[in-house]
Amino acid sequence: MESRGSFPFGKLEISGNVKLSRFTTWGVGGPARYFIEPISLEQFVEALRFARERGMEVFVMGSGSNLLVHDSGFPGLVIRTVRLNGWEIRGDRLTADAGVKLPFLARIAAESGLSGLEELSGIPGTIGGALIQNAGAYGREFGELVEWVELLIDDKVERYTSDALKFCYRRTILPAEGYIVRVGLRLVSSDKDRIRERIRDFVRRRRSTQPLGRTAGSVFKNPEGRAAGWLLDRAGLKGVGIGGAKYSKVHANFIVNTGGATADDIFRLMKMGRERVLEIFGVELEPEIKMIGAFEWRGSGGR
Ligand SMILES: Cc1cc2nc3c(=O)[nH]c(=O)nc-3n(C[C@H](O)[C@H](O)[C@H](O)COP(=O)(O)OP(=O)(O)OC[C@H]3O[C@@H](n4cnc5c(N)ncnc54)[C@H](O)[C@@H]3O)c2cc1C
Repeated sequence: MESRGSFPFGKLEISGNVKLSRFTTWGVGGPARYFIEPISLEQFVEALRFARERGMEVFVMGSGSNLLVHDSGFPGLVIRTVRLNGWEIRGDRLTADAGVKLPFLARIAAESGLSGLEELSGIPGTIGGALIQNAGAYGREFGELVEWVELLIDDKVERYTSDALKFCYRRTILPAEGYIVRVGLRLVSSDKDRIRERIRDFVRRRRSTQPLGRTAGSVFKNPEGRAAGWLLDRAGLKGVGIGGAKYSKVHANFIVNTGGATADDIFRLMKMGRERVLEIFGVELEPEIKMIGAFEWRGSGGR
């Protein structure tokens, strides 16, 4: 019976029952039935084959900075991309593997005198997560910088230029079903000191407006013309908690794990926020965070 430990599959070692709370910024979530951090494209392909042969669901994650994992975990294979972290700069073009983190990428771009990523430099996600979420801050969206993307579809890599992608608010529609393995960005040459100063400035602004501690960034998307944080604040959610989870007093669209929170605490708090805002303003908030596992979220978003 495969229950714990590791499972050899060709050249791969797949781990069993790995707690995902270790890999989410909220620090909550149960185990993945199977788990792997591939170090190459070949391993990624093999891992997908492992799941396919067992008819098992796959979930690909990056930094876990936008994820709520159910306390009962995920019954399939989780592939975490953070060790796919190669990158290359040629002229004003930057190519990065899916697992490279945005703050790191912004720094290496700055050291090469390339501007464009400064606004996004405080977002703790990977390139794969940033692309699929079309991560954005301070008027800049990741999609604006993308020249092409490479998707792993079954066992083949296909490249698509950005005109085949549809960048929406906190969501990108890919031209085909697959996993992001590499992204090509086009940046703009600029003065290194000025780029470094802009990064410092955006990081400072973030620190003064967002809570520290274990969060997953904004919980809900901003509805058309409104700020979710403002609606939650006016609905009286600031500082409201369930178990170890609490709506931040600094920014009401952030839920903080103040210690010992469960995914269920966070989930119930989200439902409470959505219900109160709906009751008071008639606006239905849609989650920005992705939920994996046995959650039942009525309404749009969340998956
Ligand atoms: C303190 C803090 C501040 C934040 N500030 C911002 C902000 O200003 N703006 C903003 O937009 N977000 C913000 N976020 C949220 C988060 O960092 C972004 O959404 C980020 O892009 C998620 O990347 P990730 O690697 O952590 O993805 P994960 O959370 O691991 O996954 C998120 C989604 O991306 C998918 N995914 C990840 N990698 C791949 C891949 N290779 N191929 C296909 N799908 C993939 C997953 O399946 C999942 O659906 C913040 C989060 C925190 C904790």
